[in-house]
Amino acid sequence: MNPEIWSDRERDQKADQRFMREALRQAKKAYALGESPIGCVIVRGDRIIARGYNRRTTDHNTLAHAEVIAIRRACKKEGDWRLEGCRMYVTLEPCPMCAGALLQCRMDEVIIGCMSPKSGCAGSVMNLLEADGFNHKVKVIRGVLEEECAGLMKDFFRELRVRVKEEKLARKAAEECSGKMAVDKAGGR
Ligand SMILES: [Zn+2]
Repeated sequence: MNPEIWSDRERDQKADQRFMREALRQAKKAYALGESPIGCVIVRGDRIIARGYNRRTTDHNTLAHAEVIAIRRACKKEGDWRLEGCRMYVTLEPCPMCAGALLQCRMDEVIIGCMSPKSGCAGSVMNLLEADGFNHKVKVIRGVLEEECAGLMKDFFRELRVRVKEEKLARKAAEECSGKMAVDKAGGR
């Protein structure tokens, strides 16, 4: 193999991992808010021009996905609705809305951490980003820091399940307690 090509490929992989790590940092901000931990960054050349993390619950807003937030910021910064020449690093495969926004802003590439089997539109449920027929295609690269990205989601949902279970138990205990008090009261009369 041509060593020049090899070193290019090496450098690209390292850059991909470096930017995905930044996306993971954003995802952890969502985690800290109790949101599904999804984060992204938009890169032009070797510079991050916008960041975003999921704030759907915090903002009470269906549209507050990491990707949409980052696209808004990048457009504002660039003074253009087109983001040609940019690429997005996102920890989870984009949903239909975000895949649509990525097509609309004419993003060059999307680099994905882990896939989302039940809502992803970059190859899971469908592949909106690389579909024939639209006037633009977004190149998709999958599986960058996949373990870290999937691990964060797993940790979040494991904690959520524990929290829901604990709340249920606490509620049950409170109900039993108030029931017992009512019985004691009735018995004391
Ligand atoms: Zn989305």
